[in-house]
Amino acid sequence: MEALAWLCAQAILELFIAMYIADLVSGLVHLTFDNCVVANVELRNQVFYTPKEAAEFMATSEIFKKATGFDKFLWDFQNHHEAPFPATKSHFGMWLEIFTFEIPVFIILFGVLYFDLAPGWVVRPVIMAFALGSFMQVIHFNAHIRNRDLPLSPITRLLQDTGFLLHPSFHRKHHETFDCNYCLFNGWASPIVERVARYCRTVGIHSDTPPTHFYRSERVGVVLEGGNAPIGSLLGSSKEDVPCDEKCEQTVTSDSTIDSSDGQTFFPPVAPNH
Ligand SMILES: [Zn+2]
Ligand SMILES: [Zn+2]
Repeated sequence: MEALAWLCAQAILELFIAMYIADLVSGLVHLTFDNCVVANVELRNQVFYTPKEAAEFMATSEIFKKATGFDKFLWDFQNHHEAPFPATKSHFGMWLEIFTFEIPVFIILFGVLYFDLAPGWVVRPVIMAFALGSFMQVIHFNAHIRNRDLPLSPITRLLQDTGFLLHPSFHRKHHETFDCNYCLFNGWASPIVERVARYCRTVGIHSDTPPTHFYRSERVGVVLEGGNAPIGSLLGSSKEDVPCDEKCEQTVTSDSTIDSSDGQTFFPPVAPNH
């Protein structure tokens, strides 16, 4: 009986460690790719306010096809800030996409465990972290679903409210500023990720202005001055941008401007050419 209690306690402890690792990895990966700049100027000036439109652009546009693999990946990754919802895949599809990518990692980790190449108490939480990580996009989009008051299971709501899964308010903040709250599993590792983010900005690895603000200012420059405006002089204006989640729910009223909820005029980027 005592042995069983010890096993349960160990399993719970390892599960908590796995959740922390999953959150930490999600935060560091998100921090890294949110702060890489899409080098292809033409590509980064393409913006779509629905994931469906973005998917069509990726499938059909010559601009996208001619871009480097890394730029394609970054553009797709960062366009979530402009078109956060709804997902183009089902929950199962989102899970399967990450799980498929993780299969080689699982093979290696189970090999390490089987051949006793590392202590089990180290390998098991890592395996669990990857297993939990395969649900990352599902957990992430559940936060977006709740931010829109759409139906969500009571269990998911409870897990969000108790901090075991990503809380919608925590993630909403990321979509307002793009420079904090990078964690996508539950936010437990956020204090560490925020310190890493601050360090990266301090030493110049990342710029003070998140690329999403930079692109938006760049697009304003394209609209206002035919693409010749110095970007630096426009960066400040991006601070006043409408939060992405709100903006994406607005209707484009003309080809040239979108009226934001606070009365400002937001200049849209270069029109998508698809
Ligand atoms: Zn982001
Ligand atoms: Zn999001």
